[in-house]
Amino acid sequence: APAVFTDVDIYQRSFNPREYLKEFYTLSDSEGRPNAFLTQNLRSLFTMFSLDGLRGDTLIDVGCGPTIYQLLSACERFQEITALDYTDQNRRELEKWLKNEAGAFDWRPVVKYVCELEGDSEKWAEKEEKLRQRVKRVLKCDVTKANPAAPVSLLPADGVVSAFCLEAACKDLAAFRSALRNIGTFVKPGGHLVMLVTLQGTFYAFNKEVFSCLYLERNAVLEAVEGAGFDVKFREVQPWPPGDVRTDCKDVLSFVARKRASVT
Ligand code: SAH
Repeated sequence: APAVFTDVDIYQRSFNPREYLKEFYTLSDSEGRPNAFLTQNLRSLFTMFSLDGLRGDTLIDVGCGPTIYQLLSACERFQEITALDYTDQNRRELEKWLKNEAGAFDWRPVVKYVCELEGDSEKWAEKEEKLRQRVKRVLKCDVTKANPAAPVSLLPADGVVSAFCLEAACKDLAAFRSALRNIGTFVKPGGHLVMLVTLQGTFYAFNKEVFSCLYLERNAVLEAVEGAGFDVKFREVQPWPPGDVRTDCKDVLSFVARKRASVT
């Protein structure tokens, strides 16, 4: 594990989106073994974005990184998506795919996998098109700020999705609770927060770079979510595929939480 917390300056300096995508988001490795981390996350997202009431006009993706997998089921339920991340090169990499530029990461195997889950493997090109149209903006954010999108003021959305960002961005549990409150302000009362969070991990590594991860227990996360004004409606824990040298995370927690009506 890294001795120190890897802050946003380190992300901006050393996070290589292409290496990250190659390492964690290739559907099967060079020996043809399936990427269980990815497929189980895709199945969780599919389950969560199929739940009753999980739909609306607007969705904000917090800490999107260079990835789109977290939006593949979501884009069937939400019309207008805003993607946010701190790191310039990650937003740029995402935009490359959105604009269908030459050299963009090939998400097709992942898109096809999700289309199969959704029961129509033929519609993958249509889904790519739909997602490209639905992501309206890609903006800088910092989840440690009271308004993470500052100087932009986003209208509260019907949904927020966030995958593996807060445990990267927060140096301790107090910071995690505060970041949850910050991104919680993006959700309308009655709207939903959908998250994937690693449990009991302290680092992840790729391309010979090590990034810190906040060690979290399931109950600490769920309590922080309740404390930020949400009721947890669905949750599941999946083991991180064992024997992975790239991280010491034990599990992935997926959950859906609904924002309570504000009491004034
Ligand atoms: N959501 C993607 C990326 C996760 S990697 C996925 O599921 O794979 C962690 C991401 O958090 C990186 O893209 C990094 O740029 C972003 N990040 C780190 N600190 C942040 C902060 N303070 N505010 C916003 N994003 C941050």
